[in-house]
Amino acid sequence: MNNVIAVDVGGSRFRVGLFDQEGHRLLVSDEETFRSGGRDWMLQRLREQCQFMRQKSDYPVQAGGVSFGGPVDFERQRVTSLHAPGWESFPLAQWFKEALGLPCRVDNDANAGALGEYRFGAGRGIQSLVYITLSTGIGGGLICGGKVFRGKDSMAGEIGHLPVSDSGVLCACGARGCLETFCSGSAIAQRGREWAVRRPEAVARMVELSGGSAADITSKAVVQAAAEGDMAATRIIREAARWLARALVTVIRIVNPDRVILGGGVTQAGSVLLDPVRESLDELASPSIRHSTELVLAELGTNSPLYGAAALALEVA
Ligand SMILES: [Zn+2]
Repeated sequence: MNNVIAVDVGGSRFRVGLFDQEGHRLLVSDEETFRSGGRDWMLQRLREQCQFMRQKSDYPVQAGGVSFGGPVDFERQRVTSLHAPGWESFPLAQWFKEALGLPCRVDNDANAGALGEYRFGAGRGIQSLVYITLSTGIGGGLICGGKVFRGKDSMAGEIGHLPVSDSGVLCACGARGCLETFCSGSAIAQRGREWAVRRPEAVARMVELSGGSAADITSKAVVQAAAEGDMAATRIIREAARWLARALVTVIRIVNPDRVILGGGVTQAGSVLLDPVRESLDELASPSIRHSTELVLAELGTNSPLYGAAALALEVA
């Protein structure tokens, strides 16, 4: 018996887990990312947490896997983040090997999430899937023929940046009208705040759930209010779902996967988003699509990338 260490580096939280060979999670730490601490703080905490997991392990730890919340050049095993200072072209797998003496494999969080669901979640037993994570932004990962399909520059499956409108706002990627600007957590929160300006009387519940200020409306509050039947929140979620369904038709037409799996924080409220996405898909797509591809929620919740990191570690153990 051997164990592996899995790491999920996110913009707001980071998790380190100890897993066995079958992908069972034995132990996990979950803490907030101290953003202003930058790369040095993160690497220091990673080293400490990984050493802690190693000490707690009943069996030798053979390898590590990392899910990174930003672009990763998989071929070269480098983080290529242009948004987070200090991470540009950083050889994270090599750092891991030098700091902890363990082989390591790194991928971006969307690919890791796809792999996690494929190996241990809602994608078990099938050959192809599209995993979409809706959180602050939108990420996507593809499994084709039982393998992660990454494309030439590790950019395949980036569904969040499909252009769905030519009149949309500017996206973080530099293009205009990307799906991410219509149905990410940030976009949903922004719609809530726009409603607050136009129709302040309609957003009372969203404001209450966001701590009392209309300027602080969160996507979580919009989703929660929609789950309670709030009219304005329901309209915001239905509109977001429709944009997502439009993009999904394109993706399903190209990939024809067994399953589309929705994960990430925005989907945690279950059927609130899933049901209107299904309804819009029924409206927009031909019946053959609906019969060919299942649309389901991630089984591993917000832990899909962490399980994917464990799967990456098991590949090099
Ligand atoms: Zn974009």
